Amino acid sequence: MKRKTIIVGGGMAAMSCALRLMERGEDFLLVTEVLGGRVMYSSHEDVNYGAYFVMSNYRHAKNIVEKNGRINPLDACFHNNERERFSTLSWHTLASLPQFLKFLSALLEFRKHYEAYKQRCLENPQKEALADDPYLKRLFHLPAGDFIKEKKFEKVTADYVSKFAYACTGADINTITTMDFLNVSLGLVLPIHQIKFDSEAMAAKLGDHLVFDTITDIVKGTDGYTLTGSTGTTFEAKNIVVATPAAVTQKLLNLSEIREACRIYVYHVAATLKPEFRKRGLNLFPATSEFILIAKQKDGTYLIYSRENDVNLSKLCLKCEMIGYKDWDKAMYVYGRAYMEQELEKGLYIAGDHNGLGLEPTSISGIYAANKIIQSNC
Ligand SMILES: Cc1cc2nc3c(=O)[nH]c(=O)nc-3n(C[C@H](O)[C@H](O)[C@H](O)COP(=O)(O)OP(=O)(O)OC[C@H]3O[C@@H](n4cnc5c(N)ncnc54)[C@H](O)[C@@H]3O)c2cc1C
Repeated sequence: MKRKTIIVGGGMAAMSCALRLMERGEDFLLVTEVLGGRVMYSSHEDVNYGAYFVMSNYRHAKNIVEKNGRINPLDACFHNNERERFSTLSWHTLASLPQFLKFLSALLEFRKHYEAYKQRCLENPQKEALADDPYLKRLFHLPAGDFIKEKKFEKVTADYVSKFAYACTGADINTITTMDFLNVSLGLVLPIHQIKFDSEAMAAKLGDHLVFDTITDIVKGTDGYTLTGSTGTTFEAKNIVVATPAAVTQKLLNLSEIREACRIYVYHVAATLKPEFRKRGLNLFPATSEFILIAKQKDGTYLIYSRENDVNLSKLCLKCEMIGYKDWDKAMYVYGRAYMEQELEKGLYIAGDHNGLGLEPTSISGIYAANKIIQSNC
């Protein structure tokens, strides 16, 4: 049966697109390998190896994931190196207060522009939404390191903000854009919550609209598209929304340059940490370290994030037993300035985190594709 729309993928972008189409009673099918994508749980209780938190301004993403406990920013320890470390509230922080206030003022200015931009992105391609605001357009291309020098808050950034950004992106701030840097830094001032995703409830909600398969081929016909799954099944639709990770989308649609992704290794351990890492629930490291973050879980276990494989966990732990492990070879698309179009041709849409970091821009890109299909009336 030919559908009006097929969504390929089952992550935040695809699910957001699907819920919007469903809301409008549209005919669609969502074909995916798994539901959740990079919002992923281990089999161990509620511990999440993928996307970890939402900020209070993630309005659309919160329709898909539930809040699961507030993350307390005061419960963080920032490590400069093996000897130097400080907590969120300390004499060291007080000494940085003037620069922090300057940073805060820049962040609040960004927030004003960014919220309006996200609103525009629901109905307009990101490119047009950016072009409408020269301030943001500049930040989309400007390396974060240049912005920090320009604004003269190098010290507070080196001691605190860059570590939070490293924890959120797995990348050095000198390699990411100012837009991504300020977007994640909003987590320093907005309430943030851990998340929980119920894939069974989502599957039940999608009902007959959901099919599990891996799409291996997409062919354009005279009146729409034919997709082939790994089981040999074919699917036909007038419109398709390709909401797979950027590297998969690139292959499926034969696209040229895309942003490059960072790689993150997640180690889930039951451990006795060394005393210097025991005081706070979150330990944040500088980008020079192979470790990114240690996050204590509700059940007393730890998630240790690293940008290297086979790290020596005894650098952090006195005793350590591995519970689980996840290699995210394409964790987040943070490198480079390549831009992925969202509407490649009439009826062919792309959604995901290719142009903007995190669950909320991803969710918005899915809603945008749905809105275009609803408006196109074909
Ligand atoms: C370790 C880690 C921590 C993160 N932490 C946060 C965080 O705290 N907050 C935040 O906002 N963001 C975070 N992110 C980023 C966030 O997870 C992503 O931006 C977001 O989940 C991307 O959603 P997506 O729908 O674009 O892609 P994905 O979630 O990758 O979903 C893609 C979907 O496509 C399916 N698929 C792939 N290939 C095919 C195919 N050929 N056929 C059919 N289906 C296919 C997959 O099964 C998957 O369901 C984190 C990411 C990682 C890796």
